[in-house]
Amino acid sequence: MNSEMIIQIVREVHKVYEANAPEIEKLDQAIGDGDHVINMRRGIQAILEIDEALVPLKPGEALNKIAMTLLSSIGGAAGPLFASMFMGMAKVPGSDDIHDSKTVAKMFSSGVEFVKQRGKADLGDKTMLDVLIPVSNLFSELVEKSDLPKNEMLKQLMAEAERGMLSTKDIAATKGRASYLGERAKGHIDPGAKSCQLIIFTICDYLMNRE
Ligand code: ADP
Ligand code: MG
Repeated sequence: MNSEMIIQIVREVHKVYEANAPEIEKLDQAIGDGDHVINMRRGIQAILEIDEALVPLKPGEALNKIAMTLLSSIGGAAGPLFASMFMGMAKVPGSDDIHDSKTVAKMFSSGVEFVKQRGKADLGDKTMLDVLIPVSNLFSELVEKSDLPKNEMLKQLMAEAERGMLSTKDIAATKGRASYLGERAKGHIDPGAKSCQLIIFTICDYLMNRE
């Protein structure tokens, strides 16, 4: 993986996110303050604007630069949380020279750990972590199975992201703005979880059938 690939993935995420923006906006209007899509758009746009500066960087350096860009461009809770994800990924030794899925799984897991610490949240709080934690756990498990074809692994990760996203629907929120609603947040999917599922879906789709 190189920085050019990271940028291509962000371009894909941009397209898919735009196609799904109205649906996600409704979710944050239901249980948040309605700005989640604005925040996400700002972050994606800010990364696309520094694409030329990212190309010559090693992946770890690019991820760090993306983290700093997200911190200064996205407001609200989501900015520092997404920035933490990228910072955590960049911190793994080997993130500058990625040549196997085990390293990527370690990076993902470290990113998720940073998000957990930053948000002081965990599984079952009705946040993006309900997607990130199970996908990270499954990813770490699957990379140990040397006979598992890559596309099969990606399909399983997509299915896990979907499951995690749907699991936020019928629980009450205990973190973030949605927690002010208490039980009334039940019945709505968490917008951050939906965003993460879409991003994971897009990355897996991009990597499928690729060397
Ligand atoms: P804000 O909550 O400041 O309006 P956004 O609307 O952009 O920011 O993002 C809301 C999303 O952030 C939620 O849907 C949830 O997934 C995620 N979130 C909120 N608080 C936390 C937290 N403490 N830990 C992890 N994720 C969180
Ligand atoms: Mg919001």
